[in-house]
Amino acid sequence: MKILLASSEVHPYSKTGGLADMVGALGKALARANHEVCIVTPLYRGIQERFPAMRRMDWQFNLPLGARPVQAELWSLAVEKRLTIYFVDQPGFYQRAGIYLENHVSYPDNAERFIFFSKCVANLARYLPWRPDVVHVNDWQAGLVPALMLHQRRGEGWGNPPPVCLTIHNLAYQGNFPAAAFALTNLPDEFFTIEGAEFYKQLNCLKAGIAFADAITTVSPRYAREITTEEFGCGLDGLLRRRQDRLFGILNGVDHEEWNTLHDPLLKYPYSAVRLVGKQKNKIELQKEMGLPVAADAPLFGTITRLAEQKGVDIQLGALEEMLSADIRFVLLGSGSAAFERDYNMLSRRFPSQVAVRIGYDEGLAHRIEAGCDFYLMPSRFEPSGLNQMYSLRYGTIPIVRAVGGLDDSVIDFAQDAARANGIKFREYSARALAKAIRKALALYQQPGLLLRYRQNAMRMDFSWNQTVGEYLKIYKAAEKISSGQDLRTAARVP
Ligand code: ADP
Repeated sequence: MKILLASSEVHPYSKTGGLADMVGALGKALARANHEVCIVTPLYRGIQERFPAMRRMDWQFNLPLGARPVQAELWSLAVEKRLTIYFVDQPGFYQRAGIYLENHVSYPDNAERFIFFSKCVANLARYLPWRPDVVHVNDWQAGLVPALMLHQRRGEGWGNPPPVCLTIHNLAYQGNFPAAAFALTNLPDEFFTIEGAEFYKQLNCLKAGIAFADAITTVSPRYAREITTEEFGCGLDGLLRRRQDRLFGILNGVDHEEWNTLHDPLLKYPYSAVRLVGKQKNKIELQKEMGLPVAADAPLFGTITRLAEQKGVDIQLGALEEMLSADIRFVLLGSGSAAFERDYNMLSRRFPSQVAVRIGYDEGLAHRIEAGCDFYLMPSRFEPSGLNQMYSLRYGTIPIVRAVGGLDDSVIDFAQDAARANGIKFREYSARALAKAIRKALALYQQPGLLLRYRQNAMRMDFSWNQTVGEYLKIYKAAEKISSGQDLRTAARVP
């Protein structure tokens, strides 16, 4: 198949979270399964310098954004056989210090920036001589693509447009803008209704995607069910229930090339499920790197996260307060809300020999935390897929997670399956419940034989993309059939 993927971030070119990892890995895995893949993404500051092999294409966008025409250029990078990245070059929109925000404040023209991006994607889908069989867009930043394409089919004589699949990576981010921003789409008013892009008199880009995409996926089966409920539906559960026949959950995979304990250039000591000495050495290195006194035998807990409400960092603070009287160590790498950054910095000042906090974004340190810790804390309020718990499993670091979304789908606890257990789960969203789970971890730590079994179970989990790719292909094929009127769920043979 020929697949046009669109995303506002793609690893290794740009990244703020799991979206970038997923799109980068999915593109690569599809290409290696003999499909042709083009990924469209904005050309942000610094990418060109890091990837000088990219070439300017003979392509000029000149697209209306409301009343004004906006021009952009297109660059391409041939990554490997069958995989090309297209970068939309609009310096006024994308050559900035951040991707979505700066100094904790969203860019005021994000509607312009990403409506324009969506228009470029629709333009490529229509006019690239390569002609994709399916267009796969991700999150609100490309959420208007299905509506734009539908309009071009209905109103502009685009004879046979490819089907569009939308993946929701996080329903909490919807791209809501004042109603006036709808004019930037140049779509007719019939798209701005309660059944379409309108959400309480605002423009909602993700809602438009859900309403007009041929197929909708999200990044774990459990999250696909959760978002149809009021509790997790972020106001869109009604629409999602109506579109349930075309909503599927596919758990994200892990890029086993990037996350491989035997071949990770970011680690000092390689290790494996049968030779774990390297892990212990990495633990000591990590303590040194984080400025903690070396305590080889004390259990080391870690977290790498956006410091956002969603990630449960508030109950984590409470649980740590309670648990730091025990002989435990904790390291955190993250950035986000200024208040949480302050709270965690404060915690490390109060417990300097037990807690180390690094505010910022650091790929290398993220790998070393995954490798060097004994336990990984991920007490999310909700979690569409979550990648860090899967990286933890791959690295033999036992995840302690709240049983929601992708966390519940990827971690197995003792009560579920004693023989295959690889992590610790808790249910109630509270510091007390998390502290109890940490106590279970301490008990596990006291039983080296059992801990080893957990680690080996964890490291043997297969989250490779080879499997996941097959599930996406089924959805693409099913989306193709929808125009012929077939029932999507039957076509996809997904329960
Ligand atoms: P989300 O997409 O909600 O942020 P995920 O767990 O799906 O959460 O993905 C987060 C990704 O971002 C992981 O690859 C994680 O390692 C990475 N990440 C998050 N914060 C940082 C940070 N401060 N430094 C390095 N990597 C980070």
